[in-house]
Amino acid sequence: MNAAATTHHHTSCLRCGRKLTSTKSVATGYGPTCTRKVKAAAKAEVVAQYKPHQVAKAEELIEQGGLIPLRGQIYLAVSSDGSQTYKTHRAACSCPAGIKGLHPCKHRIAAHILSLAA
Ligand SMILES: [Zn+2]
Ligand SMILES: [Zn+2]
Repeated sequence: MNAAATTHHHTSCLRCGRKLTSTKSVATGYGPTCTRKVKAAAKAEVVAQYKPHQVAKAEELIEQGGLIPLRGQIYLAVSSDGSQTYKTHRAACSCPAGIKGLHPCKHRIAAHILSLAA
């Protein structure tokens, strides 16, 4: 169990790296401007490609700070119980659903949203 992955506490914005001050930003990992940009990006392209409930789950994951940028457009995704992490790109994910590859998992959709917002 990785304590850093379970306690969603961020001191700087996951997108722009600015210092986060509000309680909400510290919890989500995004400042207010970046939250708006991420959401706008999600609306434009992603909604057209995935089912609404999948997009909602991906947005929830982002809001929980569950996707941490590694490098390029590769993200570290934290499983819902916080016990595992996966490597995620919009085209592939190392989670169980992602390895099967039948449907895009919420991690991939979230990575897609974030890569658009970057
Ligand atoms: Zn930011
Ligand atoms: Zn996944």
